[in-house]
Amino acid sequence: MPQQKNHSFDVIVVGSGASGGWACKRLAEAGLKVALLEAGRPQSDKNFTEHKPEFELEYRNKTTELIRKTRPIQVKFGVCNEYTYDWFVNDLEEPYTTPADKPFNWMGRLRMTGGRTNVWGRVSLRFSDWDFKSASQDGYGEDWPLSYKDIEPYYDLVEKYVGITGSAEGLEHLPDGQFQPPVPLTCQETLFRNRVKEKLGRIVMPTRSANLTKPLNGRGPCHFCGPCERGCVTHSYFNSAFTTVADALASGNCTLISNAMACKVLMDPERNRARGILYVERNTRQTREIHARAVILCAQSQESVRILLNSATPQYSNGLANSSGVLGHYLTAHVRSGGGSGEFPAFGAKPSLGGPVKPLGIYIARFRNLPNTPSYKKFLRGFGYEGESSTEFNWNAPGLGESYKKALLEPRASLDITGFGEVLPRWDNFVELDPHVKDVYGIPVLKIHMSDGENERAMIQDMGDSAGEMLEAAGAKNIRTYAHPSAPRWALHEAGMARMGVDPQKSVLNQFQQTHDMKNLFVMDASGFTSNPCQNPTLTIMALCVRSCDYLMSELKRNAI
Ligand SMILES: Cc1cc2nc3c(=O)[nH]c(=O)nc-3n(C[C@H](O)[C@H](O)[C@H](O)COP(=O)(O)OP(=O)(O)OC[C@H]3O[C@@H](n4cnc5c(N)ncnc54)[C@H](O)[C@@H]3O)c2cc1C
Ligand code: SF4
Repeated sequence: MPQQKNHSFDVIVVGSGASGGWACKRLAEAGLKVALLEAGRPQSDKNFTEHKPEFELEYRNKTTELIRKTRPIQVKFGVCNEYTYDWFVNDLEEPYTTPADKPFNWMGRLRMTGGRTNVWGRVSLRFSDWDFKSASQDGYGEDWPLSYKDIEPYYDLVEKYVGITGSAEGLEHLPDGQFQPPVPLTCQETLFRNRVKEKLGRIVMPTRSANLTKPLNGRGPCHFCGPCERGCVTHSYFNSAFTTVADALASGNCTLISNAMACKVLMDPERNRARGILYVERNTRQTREIHARAVILCAQSQESVRILLNSATPQYSNGLANSSGVLGHYLTAHVRSGGGSGEFPAFGAKPSLGGPVKPLGIYIARFRNLPNTPSYKKFLRGFGYEGESSTEFNWNAPGLGESYKKALLEPRASLDITGFGEVLPRWDNFVELDPHVKDVYGIPVLKIHMSDGENERAMIQDMGDSAGEMLEAAGAKNIRTYAHPSAPRWALHEAGMARMGVDPQKSVLNQFQQTHDMKNLFVMDASGFTSNPCQNPTLTIMALCVRSCDYLMSELKRNAI
């Protein structure tokens, strides 16, 4: 079996997305030799098309059917479109399975440097002790093995580098951060914020988002062109490809190995140590080995857990680092199938096909089950909402000819909000290797078992009802709400499956995302989340990763791993 000709690496990082990018930057800039294995192709500004109009595309971006032929799952979310589809995994070449009665849409599977940060929604929110210690408060599940004060300096560090626009609101359960100036709200958003605060006491704020409003490290502020998911030549949103990974490579200490599909962690059973990674070169289908003193998996939660399950040895027969038996279990994601919309006055706003597009809107902070409030009877934990207003042409205007042209220009202003709710970690939401199916590289695929429980169903209903209540309080007209079960289950914020904990019998990782079983094996994506609070996960993924890298370096320094 060929081995990677290399210059003896200190650390191998698998995956170059939100977590892998930070791991490489932190370690390489500190002088460690890092090999970055990335299953996808290199990303470059040349691939970015945020300023390219649809009419310049061969199929005018109306090609859903064509994309569906190779990416039937990925195309279900609009960010996989004619501009971007070849950044995504080919679902036929790299499938997964589910039980017939538990359909699950595993979307946002990228195969480019930068991973999901190429196309992410950029909402960046801190967790608080209300999240890290939720089990102590309501008695469900396990507390995280760390507290807000442990991660707070790392939130600061990451936010200052990433560039998060936002407003300080002084909420205990949604801590403020190191914000760049907020993007102003539209008139409709302002009206909604003021009335919801006044009538219901709920907090609506400008979205806290990884879009620059001031220049940072050579990156320009956002100029409101709109489609961040197609890339950004001014590097105004955060994408690992042109930030953390670029910095790591610039340090001279990081080697990016693209098109490298990691399939197994290689073990030294006598010393109970990881010794490297076995991977498949996607273009040649050749397998290769690469070795280092420590291995960090950052391949996105399901993918990292798949690698561990596929690395079983006689000693760890049900998956590597799985002496607890917990690996693969407690898969969580967010429920987001409740929300609403309503119409507002236009306040002089004019619809435009080519005008500026604000790439972010509002966030409504969680208001159920909070510190110093009585617990809500219908469910545990809570949800927040993402939303935005828009002013459109009156496409459905009646009439023909002149009268239609006139009516068409009557602006239609509306505001939409979508709930994002916490899913309780449950043993029976889990992933395993499907013994009957392999991908084109010969790697067993995942079988994903996930469904909503009672708590999620009750929460979704409340997301719809409360959306209606707030829109009504704000004076919206033609209010529409929805609350439907989230099957087929889907989400872009998967977490858990290799959870952190103090007890090695009930968890896979310690608070530094180091496996309890092997000192030199780490998993630094969201696999380690002990629970999955309603705030979007990526800011916490990045802050935790930097904290864990600092621990890894201190352990390497004292030869403890
Ligand atoms: C459309 C969309 C919108 C989102 N919006 C938000 C949001 O608003 N806020 C938020 O907080 N989060 C959001 N997310 C989620 C966010 O993108 C992820 O939480 C984050 O990127 C996860 O980081 P990661 O490092 O775990 O994985 P990723 O960023 O996905 O990176 C994983 C990398 O590993 C590579 N890889 C996978 N398997 C292997 C393998 N076997 N060998 C080698 N490499 C491998 C992949 O190619 C990929 O490049 C969104 C996601 C999507 C898709
Ligand atoms: S809206 Fe802003 S961040 Fe998004 S692509 Fe345009 S300039 Fe970049």
